[in-house]
Amino acid sequence: MKEKISVYWTRRDFRLRDNPALTAAIAFAKKENALLLPLFILEDYMCAGDPKFQFGYPSRVFLSKTLPEFSSEFPHFALVRGKGAESILKLSKKADIHVFVNEDVYPDFYTQIKKIQHAGIDIKLFADMLTVSKETKTGAGNYYSVFTPFKKAVWKEFVEVKTFPKVSFSNVSFVSSQKIQELFSKIVEPKEKEIMKCFSDNKTFTVGKKEYNISELIDRNMKFENWYISEEGALKHFDSYLKNGMSGYKDDRDSLEKDKTSRMSLALAWGLVSTRTLKDKIQKYFDAKFENPFSTSLNQGAMHYISELIWREFYKYLFVHNPKLISQEFQEKFRGTVDWVEAHEAHKRFEAWIQGKTGYPVVDAAMMQLAEEGWMHNRARMIVASVLTKNLGVDWRWGQEYFRATLLDLDEASNNGGWQWGASVGADPKPIRIFNPYLQAENYDAHDVYQKKYLSEEYLANPPKPIVEHKDARGEALKRYGLSEKKDGDARDY
Ligand SMILES: Cc1cc2nc3c(=O)[nH]c(=O)nc-3n(C[C@H](O)[C@H](O)[C@H](O)COP(=O)(O)OP(=O)(O)OC[C@H]3O[C@@H](n4cnc5c(N)ncnc54)[C@H](O)[C@@H]3O)c2cc1C
Repeated sequence: MKEKISVYWTRRDFRLRDNPALTAAIAFAKKENALLLPLFILEDYMCAGDPKFQFGYPSRVFLSKTLPEFSSEFPHFALVRGKGAESILKLSKKADIHVFVNEDVYPDFYTQIKKIQHAGIDIKLFADMLTVSKETKTGAGNYYSVFTPFKKAVWKEFVEVKTFPKVSFSNVSFVSSQKIQELFSKIVEPKEKEIMKCFSDNKTFTVGKKEYNISELIDRNMKFENWYISEEGALKHFDSYLKNGMSGYKDDRDSLEKDKTSRMSLALAWGLVSTRTLKDKIQKYFDAKFENPFSTSLNQGAMHYISELIWREFYKYLFVHNPKLISQEFQEKFRGTVDWVEAHEAHKRFEAWIQGKTGYPVVDAAMMQLAEEGWMHNRARMIVASVLTKNLGVDWRWGQEYFRATLLDLDEASNNGGWQWGASVGADPKPIRIFNPYLQAENYDAHDVYQKKYLSEEYLANPPKPIVEHKDARGEALKRYGLSEKKDGDARDY
């Protein structure tokens, strides 16, 4: 008889707290007297390092650091090379497996799951990345397409959702290391160096039929040392933010100068913590449930923070129902209708944008921040997205692609949502927003602190001339989008 194994297939959920799939896998192992097998499959596409699959270079480096931490939480852990569904199918030939996995929201995930289900393997999915129900609908029975009504609809569910306690392995038997060797043909030692050996050092991405090599465009080495790499580290980081930053979040979150956002995006992208745990911690710290989304008496920093976590939910919700969004505008009227600048000029401008040579200091500083840290402040992300698409007339998909290749906190849905918002083609009721990079710098970096931090002395002493004058950009952008100032334009300069 085949041995009964409870497989916890971990993908982007590297934590012991509030982990629905791991909790269920342990419960099953205990009830059914099965052995527990925590499994991570280092898939071929991860190793190849294709940004299209969320595996740009920073993602690979981070995975090589966080996986050893997570695997060390278990007495035995299987880190194997292979292809997701195929590896599970092969395993099912050798053991009576029951698979537990936290649900991802991306098309490739569902394709793999279908293959496994089709083979008759018992696999159970658990809602995780998206906390609120993906079936949330308007009174008329449609999926939401605008953030504010969505937020109102899901707020209560979000603040009331329960978390699972930290798992315990007492009375659980694991598949032994020796048995793991017998079950899989390609095992990787969960050590940073060994994992990196599996990865290509490819730093390329392709847009507009041209392959770019990031190292040739910009020679900055990304710094990783200031980031947490484990669940414990991320929780400690958040506890400190609760004490020192949360109350000021509403007022400070947009300030480039203050740079006081929580930097929890990396932890959320890799599941080192869940949004539910952050929500619980906020409730505990402020001793309030935050039931009313309009409350003005509760801590406003915390209220705003919860609202941002719900933005994250919103983008995942949109994505799960519209996977085509990755390459297609949310708004139908902009599909194939925006007149982006012609390819030769677009490549020139795109390269200048990447290299921090647009001549708009705040944009150039932001692009340097991304190159140096693999992270960019949200306000800066909004500015560089608006400038690339509106001022420079470059297709938003190109910007999305560069971010996919270079962001440490890459989250496909938030990145896509951010780019579609920045390009005014996404789920935003405003007709078009054209950011004025000078006004943005004045409002959010009044003392040039941010710009001075990331721009070289040479640049500051002699800033390059903007490659497109902002005063011409507004009219050009409206034309490109087929809009007229009178009918559709929002005369405000943002
Ligand atoms: C063009 C563009 C690309 C983006 N790409 C990504 C991405 O790949 N990964 C990513 O996590 N976020 C992305 N964002 C959203 C946002 O910029 C980051 O979540 C935020 O900067 C992360 O920093 P933080 O953790 O300090 O945020 P905080 O301000 O401290 O916010 C706390 C958390 O709320 C969520 N959040 C905050 N703002 C947003 C937002 N606008 N949209 C969705 N969720 C939000 C994040 O999970 C964040 O960690 C993008 C935004 C834009 C405009």
